Amino acid sequence: MDDLMDSMPPFEPGWVWLVGAGPGDPGLMTLLGLHALRSADVMVYDALVNPAILDMARDGIETAYAGKRGGRPSPDQRDISLRLVELAREGKRVLRLKGGDPFVFGRGGEEALTLVEHAVPFRIVPGISAGIGGLAYAGIPVTHRDTNHNVTFLTGHDASGVVPDAIDWPAVARGSPVIVMYMAMKHIDPISSRLLENGRGADEPVAVISNASLPEQRVLETTLGRVASDVEKQGFKPPAMFVVGEVVKLRSALDWLGAMEGRELEIDPLGLRGQRETG
Ligand code: SAH
Repeated sequence: MDDLMDSMPPFEPGWVWLVGAGPGDPGLMTLLGLHALRSADVMVYDALVNPAILDMARDGIETAYAGKRGGRPSPDQRDISLRLVELAREGKRVLRLKGGDPFVFGRGGEEALTLVEHAVPFRIVPGISAGIGGLAYAGIPVTHRDTNHNVTFLTGHDASGVVPDAIDWPAVARGSPVIVMYMAMKHIDPISSRLLENGRGADEPVAVISNASLPEQRVLETTLGRVASDVEKQGFKPPAMFVVGEVVKLRSALDWLGAMEGRELEIDPLGLRGQRETG
């Protein structure tokens, strides 16, 4: 392991590493991410990064918070990007730590573009995105041969904070058996209505996973028709992922975390066994 860490690319002064911290569980950080935490001079991190991950950083690392959370005042995106440029120009090893994957609804691309603009060298260290790893912690695969051959990831928020009009809802509703939604909590009512208006069924399975992969993880299994009211009734809070589609049914068999706490797993969650034997 030490040899492996020694063979990692050196984190040079004056560089910025944009690193994905994964959905929360510190075990889901990559080795390159850990290497960066141990080598950086300064770390600029987001609200969604688990404090236990920040604790893995080198002693004496300088920290700067760049938190962004819906509704609360937060540093301007441009300011954060320029701060990275400034820190790199001071000759520091700058770790920009982001929740999940930096290039998935995380503005990593925007920050990297600013670095390019200012000729600051950088590296991207991908992370496990909540839309994949978060679902896995709820026992839900994003693809499964018997249910879907494609999946759509979308955001329930755009720059102006409203349900994104840039999304072609009829196309998504028609073409995507599984829809995985980030930042959808606030607008789940209009979003589910759009999907229903465009032909999705009110009884389609939906799961909501909040604080995925953390000890506070909560999962709600519901339907497209009921999701908005259930989320409200049960007091679900962000960060949360929403997933619509048949894959949600697999949770009754694949809820491995639940099984550790005694949940009995079903062996035929899609009801296919009889079909296969006869057909
Ligand atoms: N770059 C991140 C996404 C950032 S957008 C990634 O790849 O995962 C922020 C949204 O991510 C939240 O609103 C929520 O929808 C989702 N999210 C991030 N961490 C989460 C977690 N632990 N549990 C559930 N959702 C999470």
